[in-house]
Amino acid sequence: MPIWGGASRGAVVELGCPHCKHLQLRARGPQDGSYECQRCGKSFSRGEGEAEAALQRTPRS
Ligand SMILES: [Zn+2]
Repeated sequence: MPIWGGASRGAVVELGCPHCKHLQLRARGPQDGSYECQRCGKSFSRGEGEAEAALQRTPRS
């Protein structure tokens, strides 16, 4: 379940850090842009961040 409901549309995108799993709302950049985690400071691509966020949204059964 997204922690920021409905906020993934528009100018921001919800990304999950693949290093520390921190979910964060970031300004939507280019598809191949890179982001620096707001918690651990490591960098990741938008694709990696979106994949991690999607993983965290999926409840484990
Ligand atoms: Zn991180």
